[in-house]
Amino acid sequence: MSAIPIHDPTRPALANAVNEMRTTTCYMCACRCGIRVHLRNGEVRYIEGNPDHPLNQGVICAKGSSGIMKQYSPARLTKPLLRKPGSERGDGQFEAIEWETAFTMLAERLQKIRSTDPKQFALFTGRDQMQALTGLFARQFGTPNYAAHGGFCSVNMAAGMIYTIGGSFWEFGGPDLERAKLFVMIGTAEDHHSNPMKAALSKFKRNGGRFVSINPVRTGYSAIADEWVPIKPGTDGALLLALIHELIQLGLYDREFLARYTNAGQLVNQDTASDDFGMFLRDADADIGNPLRPANFYWWDRLDRTCRCGPYRGCGPCAAGALHAAARHTGCAGFPAAAGARQALHPRMGRRRYRNSRSHDSPPGA
Ligand code: SF4
Repeated sequence: MSAIPIHDPTRPALANAVNEMRTTTCYMCACRCGIRVHLRNGEVRYIEGNPDHPLNQGVICAKGSSGIMKQYSPARLTKPLLRKPGSERGDGQFEAIEWETAFTMLAERLQKIRSTDPKQFALFTGRDQMQALTGLFARQFGTPNYAAHGGFCSVNMAAGMIYTIGGSFWEFGGPDLERAKLFVMIGTAEDHHSNPMKAALSKFKRNGGRFVSINPVRTGYSAIADEWVPIKPGTDGALLLALIHELIQLGLYDREFLARYTNAGQLVNQDTASDDFGMFLRDADADIGNPLRPANFYWWDRLDRTCRCGPYRGCGPCAAGALHAAARHTGCAGFPAAAGARQALHPRMGRRRYRNSRSHDSPPGA
């Protein structure tokens, strides 16, 4: 590091300097806070939060304001590095080379891969925040083997939340804490959604909201939680399944929603001797309709008490219970007669009562 400070605030202002301010978004993490970047003679001198930006409303964190170092840090790599001749991988022995040399070497190697089997080229781009562009490059090259940090971290969370509640964190949006009374945060890393979340949480708590944090450590957000649930690392799935189990047992789920938007009513093969044990029962000979959303699954119509195969449209799929003899009674075409079947959910009425009922031509409605 240089001994000379990059910025000496005691120095007198430069005469005739051209000062400018540009508005943009911070790329030091994925929150995308609005920032105001101050330049002097074209050089970044200072970064502050943009009070007019709806997300962070002027708040900026230490990482965001130190974004200036991304441009001017003396430790920043400015040239490609090549492993020194004779050194081994992992030795950390490199020498700087010119960009043209690096481009020539890469072009030669990539050309060879592309002319033989492009799929052998795997592109991993770290947390580059430019995955749309790097992904485009990989696809143009001809390989499906490309990934970045997000695939192992945030994209699964974002996809899950967008599919289920219609929104997610960071640049995709945030939780609606303006209207919430209870906020349960499960396993969020401490730096994520940083400024917007801190500002929203503070307001939420001041307005009387209750905040529950589920996290192995009680730092960051968890430190201000009204209730901290210190689960063991790696047990999130078990905890969520337990919560779902309770919701189902107490009948607190939205049956109409499940019937209309999910596959909760589809029968699951419970015959332990079957090769398809644990799989959804389906009629292989039936018309599947849209191959992206096959409609050859079995389910039980709680309204006319018959076993059906196909889309739920206009009927009432039973979302709980176990069926054994029912399928044979109703003579469902293609139904594997020996297969015991159980629906994906268990009954509000109580599994015990239903299990004891062996006639099963009248499974309980959910
Ligand atoms: S939270 Fe900090 S680092 Fe992240 S975008 Fe906002 S200012 Fe930048």
